[in-house]
Amino acid sequence: MSVQTLAEQATIPPNSDSIASSPFNVDSFNEAVMSTYARFPLALERGAGCRVWDTQGREYLDFVAGIATCTLGHAHPAMVEAVTRQIQKLHHVSNLYYIPEQGELANWIIQHSCADRVFFCNSGAEANEAAIKLARKYAHTVLDIEKPIILTANASFHGRTLATITATGQPKYQKHFDPLMPGFHYVNYNDINAVEVAISELDEGDYRVAAILIEPLQGEGGVRPGDVAYFKKLRQICDETGILLIFDEVQVGMGRTGYWWGYEHLGVEPDIFTSAKGLGGGIPIGAMMSKKFCDVFQPGEHASTFGGNPFVCGVALAVCQTLERENILQNVQARGEQLRAGLKAIAAKYPHQIREIRGWGLINGLELTSDTQLTAADIVKAAIDEGVLLVPAGPKVVRFVPPLIVTEAEVNQALQAFDKAIDQAIVVKGSGD
Ligand SMILES: *Cc1c(COP(=O)(O)O)cnc(C)c1O
Repeated sequence: MSVQTLAEQATIPPNSDSIASSPFNVDSFNEAVMSTYARFPLALERGAGCRVWDTQGREYLDFVAGIATCTLGHAHPAMVEAVTRQIQKLHHVSNLYYIPEQGELANWIIQHSCADRVFFCNSGAEANEAAIKLARKYAHTVLDIEKPIILTANASFHGRTLATITATGQPKYQKHFDPLMPGFHYVNYNDINAVEVAISELDEGDYRVAAILIEPLQGEGGVRPGDVAYFKKLRQICDETGILLIFDEVQVGMGRTGYWWGYEHLGVEPDIFTSAKGLGGGIPIGAMMSKKFCDVFQPGEHASTFGGNPFVCGVALAVCQTLERENILQNVQARGEQLRAGLKAIAAKYPHQIREIRGWGLINGLELTSDTQLTAADIVKAAIDEGVLLVPAGPKVVRFVPPLIVTEAEVNQALQAFDKAIDQAIVVKGSGD
């Protein structure tokens, strides 16, 4: 069966009633689903490419992509084909056995990064948990540190498990969940002096810094790119001291920035790094990569039932190969430049509201001024009304993370809609809201 036939069979055509479902009821949803999310008032039903449709049939340009995740957009034929093929062949068997797809995906990652070894799991938090465990075991067994400390950055984001909210340098994610995990210490991002001070001050008794866990570009924390000189110095400090350098590439990895990995923008390679969001193009998968020298896990020391199963690995491999075959990284760079240029032109029209445009490739942030009453959420709401989906990155930054296949025309359309949205948001705020 050809790719096209499988794709046609599996894709639900727009406005089709072929899958019966009762009309969406927000009250019954809120009764049943635990209220862990503040959701925007829309229910999405289907998608194609960079567009999604809500349950009312309204179309949106998707510049969220499942939060920097759906790299190939929605219902991409290569994903439809891979999902269909893999579910018909074999989807889950556990890591009691060898899984050929897992080996193939690991090899693809190794060939396209500085990694020598890969461990598969299901999410970004879980990948960071694996990195934290690996760093702690390395500290105990190689660095001979009794009480290892991991440095992380203020305004970082590393996930929602107990260890990763502790690693996350933002009190709002930790409140009411204490006692937190011991063994973490925070430093300001892009401030090398703070790292040097922490390393020397924390070297006391059984305590010593064992690893630095950091994002090449802070995503959730406001789309803040890492500084090249800072990261080069981090690498140098780690080389001199044996401290492990761990990069959280969950949001910026897998082509999002126009390179496969965020660290390529910084000219330094980590010892360990993690990936998730874009890795499977929207299929739940996470991974932790390491250099050979820090691969200290023995059989039985870390595991995941679902981790690296044939289904997710088969699909993620198809996503990786499609990005590569279709030269998507080039598109990411070109569309990123187009988007930033367009946003800068809009920013010039609203100097009292917009402070700065920044980002790499197709992860970009628009920061509002501290003077304006407008919040990122106000703008995101106004953009929904104009037919574009965006996501805040903190209270004052609007984030643009479209699928990596976004076209020139779609970027232009999003810019036009965004221009109207900001105008509208100003009117609403100005009228006493
Ligand atoms: C989203 C994110 C995570 C957490 O990933 P989950 O899959 O939600 O657990 C961790 N680190 C970074 C940098 C992220 O952006």
